[in-house]
Amino acid sequence: MSTTTKTLPSSVLGPEISAAPDDHPFRREFRDWLAANSPARPEPLDQDEKFALRRAWQRTLFEGGWAGPAWPEEYGGRGAGPLHQFMYYEELALARAPYIANTPGISLLGPTLIQVGSEELKSRFLPVMLSAEEIFSQGFSEPNAGSDLAAIRARAKRDGDEWVIDGQKIWTTWAQYSDYCFVLCRTDPESERHRGLTLLICPVDQPGVTVRPIEQISGDPEFCEVFFDGARCPAEWAVGGVDDGWTTAMVLFQFERGDQGFTDHSRMLVRLHEIAATLREGAAAGSLDPAGAQQARLRLAGLWVRCQQLRRFNLRVAVRQESGEQIGMEGSVVNLFWGELEREIGELGSEVHGAAGLLLHTEPSHELLAARAGTIHSGTSEIQRNIIAERILGLPR
Ligand SMILES: Cc1cc2nc3c(=O)[nH]c(=O)nc-3n(C[C@H](O)[C@H](O)[C@H](O)COP(=O)(O)OP(=O)(O)OC[C@H]3O[C@@H](n4cnc5c(N)ncnc54)[C@H](O)[C@@H]3O)c2cc1C
Repeated sequence: MSTTTKTLPSSVLGPEISAAPDDHPFRREFRDWLAANSPARPEPLDQDEKFALRRAWQRTLFEGGWAGPAWPEEYGGRGAGPLHQFMYYEELALARAPYIANTPGISLLGPTLIQVGSEELKSRFLPVMLSAEEIFSQGFSEPNAGSDLAAIRARAKRDGDEWVIDGQKIWTTWAQYSDYCFVLCRTDPESERHRGLTLLICPVDQPGVTVRPIEQISGDPEFCEVFFDGARCPAEWAVGGVDDGWTTAMVLFQFERGDQGFTDHSRMLVRLHEIAATLREGAAAGSLDPAGAQQARLRLAGLWVRCQQLRRFNLRVAVRQESGEQIGMEGSVVNLFWGELEREIGELGSEVHGAAGLLLHTEPSHELLAARAGTIHSGTSEIQRNIIAERILGLPR
């Protein structure tokens, strides 16, 4: 069973932006394509079904030439600049389209390969990444190396024309569906901290790799522990320089910050629009206690204003990038903003359902619990605040 998806009017996102107007030809072309191709909204799905839906949706985007608009045309993209990306994500949100399956590939490893990868790696991996034929997971965090990523202990050593990897990664999102994990490893055994690391692409389906899903508080086993025990990958599957993986990781993080900014203000504004509808329905049906409903309305208004600030900030970033500027550390401002907004919107989205919003294994409670990760998964809010304080404001450590 599925419910029909109707594209929302652009006013849901706030006032029209002159640099990215509603009738921009790029928006119109993509909007028309989405109206014809985006899938109907399904009834709640379990995680395997959700992943299958995302994969099928990415395939549809790929076939329509819309899977990686920011990628250069020679690699299957459209060479879209930052302002076009800004509009692309807004239109996806208004169409309430599903997310794609291969986010770590398309948003992180793919652009990194395009910037620092060998020609062999680009031609081997970029096409299958874009089409969702092969899925990629990100193996950076370890039990004792999360915020402090330079503490990485997983190691790899050369054995002829292969790397042999030993160690453990954790919180690896959707590793259970992935064909490849891009693993940050220590390749110089004498090295410490940021030096002597290499980013390797490692096949997951081999005896030396064990993937153990971890069930989250939301009930979904969204991320995994991944154990490497003599796992092997070809020597030439190092991304960027050998022993220079920190530089490669910084290139990758720059894409993580950029893409999230473009993506998330629009999804959150659409979510607030839905929450407002739930509030109106609850008020009309008399099912909400008046004081609680009043509080919820106030919070909704405050969150909408903050989402508008994020939208403007993202627009400013897009305009600056369009003229060749790097956003650098300001990506942390975007990260901090959206992480905290995601969490608070998750809380409100559950609260407007009253007591029913707290029942386990329902959509509202799932939203509440899953949103807790917003202030953690791309670098915690505390770390973003440290970066803003020390590296933007110049405050002492
Ligand atoms: C849903 C989800 C998906 C994820 N997916 C992936 C993935 O696919 N691949 C991957 O590699 N990782 C992934 N992660 C891991 C994520 O990057 C880490 O959780 C994050 O970097 C924090 O690291 P940690 O969990 O080890 O916490 P820690 O670094 O141990 O931090 C614990 C607490 O201490 C605080 N803290 C630590 N250092 C400082 C400091 N210097 N100053 C102030 N406070 C500090 C933190 O803010 C936090 O509150 C995911 C995490 C989540 C929640």
